[in-house]
Amino acid sequence: MGLIVQKFGGTSVSDDQRIFNVAKIVTKAYSQGNDVVVVVSAQGSTTDDLIAKARGINMHASKREMDVLLSSGEQISVSLLAIAIESMKFPVVSLLGWQAGFHTCLTYGSAKIEKVDSHRIKKELDKKNIVIVAGFQGINECSDITTMGRGGSDTSAVAIAAAMNADACRIYTDVEGVYTADPKIVKNAKKLNIIDYDEMLELSTLGAQVLNNRSVEMAKKYNVEVEVLSSMEDVPGTVVKEMKNVEKRAISGVAADNNIARITVTNIPDKPGFAFKLFSKLSANNIMVDVILQSHGKNNLNDISFTVTNDCLGDAVNILKKYTGNWENSEILYDENVSKVSIVGTGMETQVGIASKMFEALYEAQINIQMISTSEIKVSVLIDSSDTNLALNSIHDKFFR
Ligand code: ASP
Ligand code: MG
Repeated sequence: MGLIVQKFGGTSVSDDQRIFNVAKIVTKAYSQGNDVVVVVSAQGSTTDDLIAKARGINMHASKREMDVLLSSGEQISVSLLAIAIESMKFPVVSLLGWQAGFHTCLTYGSAKIEKVDSHRIKKELDKKNIVIVAGFQGINECSDITTMGRGGSDTSAVAIAAAMNADACRIYTDVEGVYTADPKIVKNAKKLNIIDYDEMLELSTLGAQVLNNRSVEMAKKYNVEVEVLSSMEDVPGTVVKEMKNVEKRAISGVAADNNIARITVTNIPDKPGFAFKLFSKLSANNIMVDVILQSHGKNNLNDISFTVTNDCLGDAVNILKKYTGNWENSEILYDENVSKVSIVGTGMETQVGIASKMFEALYEAQINIQMISTSEIKVSVLIDSSDTNLALNSIHDKFFR
């Protein structure tokens, strides 16, 4: 018995039957004598639909008004879940983000949680209520509603678990846990029993969709053990926690990110300061740059290639064109049909041959590597996006067969 935080994603509450399925999971935990706080996302594609609706009226809606709009998705789902639980004769109360004590920074659309004042939640738990909290939203110091960015409900759940020192934080989703690769693409993908915070962070940043990366960051910071599990199948999921050295695997997973483009700037003068100037122009415009490669110069000229997210490509190219406009023979080339495939594992730090095994798998599948980047716990390669699924399968087979 203790305090259990449960979070249900949009698919898990997408229709009446699923809402009742969630109500059953919630009331079961309550009936076992636990205090239960439940965080829910908006139903199904509600958030996407609301964004489309706003765009139909005004492509340049302010972020403030978008937050007022988007927060309504979670308002619907918390009340519907509470209504379902009421019908099962359990005591329940739903709370919006501001009522639940979510104080955020000022930034609309991607607000960071500054504090969870769990006062009201505690009061409701003392009254023996099941507490249903709207995820993804809070209030800022202007008393305005803010939202935390797409997938933010995971972060809401982890934040409550941290603030209230919960005994368990369970994130229910439409898959059974964290897999060694996306099971929809890689048939042999296996469910992991446990995964380290750092690995999960890399995987969710690199394209694995199960957990929002900010929620993993927060879980790590406050040492909240998070279990990811299925809302449909009653089987153990994956525990995200800090792993001991002995448990470390060379590789925990393979992930792909298709949402990137490669830019090459050719014939850059091979002198100090040029790379700095180029990239500072991009960062001044809030454009994030990832994998960077400078080719060895000829005739005192260099080519530099790097990746950006697809939605930044247009802006990045325009900025670079302006800046390099008066350089002789310099060209801006770009390619959207690339994807980044990465392997992640904390055991990599102490084992040799991991990267070469990955390259071997790609060679055997006759996939050309355009760029490579590495960090302590990951190796990423840039490849043609049409090779993505083949690459995932080949690399996965190499490491997990
Ligand atoms: N409903 C929000 C979204 O779709 C938050 C969430 O699902 O976690 O991004
Ligand atoms: Mg989600």
